[in-house]
Amino acid sequence: MELPDSWRNVALGTKGFMPADEGDALHAAALEAAAAVPELPFVEVGSYCGRSTIWLAAAARTAGRVVFAVDHHRGSEENQRGWEHHDPDVVDGEVGLMDTLPFLRRALFDAGVEDWAIPVVGRSALVAAHWTTPASFVFIDGGHGAEPARADFAGWSPLVAPGGTLAIHDVFPDPADGGRAPYEEVYLPALSAGFVERSVTGGLRVLTRA
Ligand code: SAH
Ligand code: MG
Repeated sequence: MELPDSWRNVALGTKGFMPADEGDALHAAALEAAAAVPELPFVEVGSYCGRSTIWLAAAARTAGRVVFAVDHHRGSEENQRGWEHHDPDVVDGEVGLMDTLPFLRRALFDAGVEDWAIPVVGRSALVAAHWTTPASFVFIDGGHGAEPARADFAGWSPLVAPGGTLAIHDVFPDPADGGRAPYEEVYLPALSAGFVERSVTGGLRVLTRA
């Protein structure tokens, strides 16, 4: 099932890093995961301003689930001042740090999906360390340095239920196409851990647990 244009347009009007075809593939993968695994929620690691979150929340709504959207909202290394993906509009001027939480909340409100997306504000590894509910679908799109990517894989991949899905963003086998960590620290370890690749859409890889 395709995402209705009303939602896709809000998603595409939201600051972020998810192209439309990858967002549609993410949405489809979440619906399939929900069909394969009853009841369990979705988890997104790395929401930024909520662009990908809208696609997932729309799938959650259709499937009768929720998506927990985990992010400390202080930005990844590559979002900080002086880096390629920095946007000065998302800096809290008084604090002097990024704060994308208000943008996420606004995006969820605009899309009408506040009942299906639950922001969890904190460092991913810290949240994962206290998280016990398994997930039908985990989407990893958090920090793309080696350390945070490794911690995301270690913290969240064990929570994918049997038959469930692990989706990974910004996976680039060829170094010419982008950074290494999602490929080396998340994707390759997932294959080693027995996840099976189901689809590739741009930088999005969808794997399932046998
Ligand atoms: N999925 C988003 C893009 C996410 S960008 C979209 O579709 O546009 C990566 C996000 O990961 C940033 O918002 C950053 O704050 C968050 N992040 C990076 N490292 C993190 C960590 N260790 N814990 C929690 N969030 C983290
Ligand atoms: Mg990404």
